[in-house]
Amino acid sequence: MTSAPHTLEGVSGSLETLQDLSLARGTLDRAGLRRRDPDLVALMLKDPLTRVLELAQGRAQVTDSDRGCLLVLRPPAEQDASRLAVFLGQDERGTAYLGVVGEAQDPANPSWRTLRQVGAVLSDRDAGLFATVQGLANWHAVHTHCPLCGSITEPDQAGWIRRCSRDGTEHYPRTDPAVIMAVTDDDDRLLLARSPHWPAGRLSVLAGFVEPGESLEAAVAREVFEEVGVVLQQVRYLGNQPWPFPSSLMVGFTGRAVGTALHLDDQEIAEAMWVSRAELADMVLTGRCDISPTVSIARRMIERWNGGPIGAVATP
Ligand SMILES: [Zn+2]
Repeated sequence: MTSAPHTLEGVSGSLETLQDLSLARGTLDRAGLRRRDPDLVALMLKDPLTRVLELAQGRAQVTDSDRGCLLVLRPPAEQDASRLAVFLGQDERGTAYLGVVGEAQDPANPSWRTLRQVGAVLSDRDAGLFATVQGLANWHAVHTHCPLCGSITEPDQAGWIRRCSRDGTEHYPRTDPAVIMAVTDDDDRLLLARSPHWPAGRLSVLAGFVEPGESLEAAVAREVFEEVGVVLQQVRYLGNQPWPFPSSLMVGFTGRAVGTALHLDDQEIAEAMWVSRAELADMVLTGRCDISPTVSIARRMIERWNGGPIGAVATP
């Protein structure tokens, strides 16, 4: 095999997938078999070496240091015993990490921040911890009752299931697959669109939920046709990351449009347009367009198409 020359990441059709997506960097061993120990969380809460990540209404405490933004991981506290606690995993030294759901903090307190705010700047381990506890906490919050009989459910298996108090059925955390797609035309322009729920100027690539009985690729083609009337070919996988707002797994694809005519579903799409790299850079630099934040896979997909950060000189 000869060594390949540098390839432009922005060239559509490249089969390289997206690496190191902000929320797909977790490093801990989830040690799932340990969840079967019914005393696991109680024992960990008694061990001062256990590291506790407290989540309070979608915020975790962080500190800014010269090593970057760090999650505050503290020893167990007395009040944790009465809180929802979940075993998040262990590191290579055997240190156990628990997530606990605490009381709301003052949102004006700058040291308590959301995953959207800090997910892209945390370490690999911390980004994985925050994404996992956020997804689990969201699920617990809305699965308090059994879907079969309506009775109360209780957390079990170190927070990884809920069990019906009446019929004993086990209920598992939800992850809802959603597809997100960078659609380009024959001139390599990118399709951007705005949801009716977004403010003017905010644009992103199209996305939608996968339906029962549907493959990921079929969902990509269906969503694009439903939302903007464009037929796709060459649908290719690009990468994925959890998106616990509240419970998605975002699976990214590229697709090539057959034709450029747009027919919008006005309930889903307020506006849509094909943009060249120069046009997008101009829109961003002049403040006419606000693209998705760095923590999102959408932003990484747009930058991949662009060949680098928007508005900056692309480097090979
Ligand atoms: Zn039940």
